Amino acid sequence: MPELPEVETVRTRLAPALTGRRFERVEILDPRLTRPFEPVAVAAELEGERVAAVERRGKYLVVRFESGRSLLIHLRMTGSLLHAPGGTLADDPYRRAVVKLDDGSDVAYRDVRRFGTWLLTGPDQLEPYFGARLGGEPLDRAFTSRRLAERLSNRRAPVKAVLLDQRTLAGMGNIYADEALWRARVHPLRAARDLAPDEIAQLTKGIKAALRAGIARQGATLRDYSTPDGGRGRMQHEFKVYGRSDEPCDRCGTPIEKTRVAGRGTWYCPGCQRLEPL
Ligand SMILES: [Zn+2]
Repeated sequence: MPELPEVETVRTRLAPALTGRRFERVEILDPRLTRPFEPVAVAAELEGERVAAVERRGKYLVVRFESGRSLLIHLRMTGSLLHAPGGTLADDPYRRAVVKLDDGSDVAYRDVRRFGTWLLTGPDQLEPYFGARLGGEPLDRAFTSRRLAERLSNRRAPVKAVLLDQRTLAGMGNIYADEALWRARVHPLRAARDLAPDEIAQLTKGIKAALRAGIARQGATLRDYSTPDGGRGRMQHEFKVYGRSDEPCDRCGTPIEKTRVAGRGTWYCPGCQRLEPL
C-alpha cells in the first residue's frame, strides 16, 4: 500500500499541476528519503529542473524533466503527495520534503513510516533501473494471458507470492493480488506453475479488472493514502475479500477466510477459490 491504482491516481491528479512547471526551490528534510545521497545535494540538483511529464511505472511515480533526467518517487507504505497553493501548507510533523514550483504553489511530501524514496536518475539510467526490477505493466495491451503464463510456468511458489514479485508484473501489492485472485476463483496458495491455461486467462482478466476498479475509485484509503488534493479513495468500500474475514462472499455466500502467504495477511473465499479440485 499504495499499489498501482493509488499511484496512478496520484499521477493523474499531479500531472496537470506539475507539467511545464519549474522546480524553483526544493527542501528535503529527511536523509532517509534520498539515501545514500545527501539530501542537500539532491535538492540542489533538482532546483531549476522543468517538468516535461509525470508518468508511472509499477508503483513508481516518474517525474520526467526536460533535461532528460527523472525523479523516481516510491511512496512505499505511508508516503503521500499534496499539491497546495503557495503559502497554504499547514504544519505537519511528518512532512519530509517540499518543492516550490514557479507558479508559487507547493508540492509537499509526507511520510509517517519513512520508507519512501526519491531517486534522481540520469537520461540513460531509467530503463536499466526499471529493467532490473520490474516486469510488464498489467494494464498494457501487451500484458496477455500468454505473457502471464510465461511468468508463472517455472515458479513453484504460491501464485499470490509470485504476483507480489514486482518482476512478474509491476504494481501489484497485497490488496489487489487478493482481489484479482478472488475474481479469477484461484486459491492464493496454489503453486503458480500448476495453474491451468483457463485459470491463467481468468487471472489475467481478474488482475486488469481489480486494478481498473481501484483506479476508477481513486484508490483505497486505509490509513495514510490520500490524493494530491487531500481527498480519500473509495475502493476500500468495495473490496470483495481484502480485510473481510467472516463476511459472506458476494458470489457464493461462504464466509471469507484469512490465511498467510509469503508472510502477508491474505483473504480468500474457501467456497469458490479451491486449493484442491472437487
Ligand atoms: Zn465464494
